Amino acid sequence: MAFGRRSILIAAAALGSGRARAAAIAPERFLWMQNAAGEEVAVAFRAGEEYIPAAIARLRHLLRDVHAGVEGPMPPLLLDMLSVLQEGWDYSRPIIVRSGYRTPLSNAAIEGAARRSLHLHGQAVDMAVPGISADELGTRAAGLARRLGFMGVGAYPSFVHLDIGPQRVWTR
Ligand SMILES: [Zn+2]
Repeated sequence: MAFGRRSILIAAAALGSGRARAAAIAPERFLWMQNAAGEEVAVAFRAGEEYIPAAIARLRHLLRDVHAGVEGPMPPLLLDMLSVLQEGWDYSRPIIVRSGYRTPLSNAAIEGAARRSLHLHGQAVDMAVPGISADELGTRAAGLARRLGFMGVGAYPSFVHLDIGPQRVWTR
């Protein structure tokens, strides 16, 4: 949390090869999130190249379909993307998850939801960040998508949809 990406890369260059170097390049990653049920998790979920199973399990539970009470798949790549985005505010603001994983039944009940939504695969999150407008959040997410070459970003009036599918940006 105390290291920026630049200082991590400089530290990595100063190290020898092997695990220490890999760990320095892939730093510890954090997430601070709240869900629609009012639950909150703030946790380090990755140390170097290793994901931390207990932390992943807590985040999977947080991102479950809260209406159906069902946990979905939780691709760690989605957590990495959210963490990189949250790093933009130095982890000073939580991510408010409006919708994470959705069962087919829950998804069908949402007006306007895509029938083949990536929420059905646990690959998408609808989110907001307190004190940050959906516009700004969408702009930041779209910037990250350009850097990475993938990620779907949908800007809605009060939240931003983010997924780890192919790169595309839309506004509603
Ligand atoms: Zn969505």
